Amino acid sequence: MIKPIADCPECLGQGYIQGSPGYKKCVCVYKQEAIEYLTPLYNVPGQIPKGFDVAGFARNLVFEAVVPERFRSFVKSFLLSSAMKYQHQTLKALDIIQAYVKPWSKLEAHPFSKLYDLDFLIINLELDPHNNFYGETMQSLIETRIQNKNFTWINSRYAIASDTFKKAYQTEFSYFLSKPPFLTAVVRKMV
Ligand SMILES: [Zn+2]
Repeated sequence: MIKPIADCPECLGQGYIQGSPGYKKCVCVYKQEAIEYLTPLYNVPGQIPKGFDVAGFARNLVFEAVVPERFRSFVKSFLLSSAMKYQHQTLKALDIIQAYVKPWSKLEAHPFSKLYDLDFLIINLELDPHNNFYGETMQSLIETRIQNKNFTWINSRYAIASDTFKKAYQTEFSYFLSKPPFLTAVVRKMV
């Protein structure tokens, strides 16, 4: 269904590259998948079109510059379409830092470690007060979530490659989100 780009300089149209061990999917295939999965979000007002494969959204995704109301209604539509089988939580970068710095308690699980096991974590990156630790805190959280096979959606009001994003959430984090397993909304239409 999803084809590699014929003149891709990385995989020469094969769709995979030598990894260790074995072969791994080429980034050009990830980009095609991003277009496939994320286009409906931009074309239909916040709704997943009928017959669209909702399961495709069960992965790590970056949504760039989506109108907040549209994104919220998309999330709602996704959760309803997936029969609400997913545990989910929506947080801001500041919420994650606050969970991280909360003292450990012997009586209950650390609030930060609870975030490792949520099926879906949706992080809204918009208008957070300045903090130099957003990037590394979110990255370490997401890396553990990836190991645990849980999915994270990043919704950013800025393009993740933009200077504004890098200034707010650090350059390393921008780079982390720009490569697999994250798929970025490469189709960008402000509506
Ligand atoms: Zn390729």
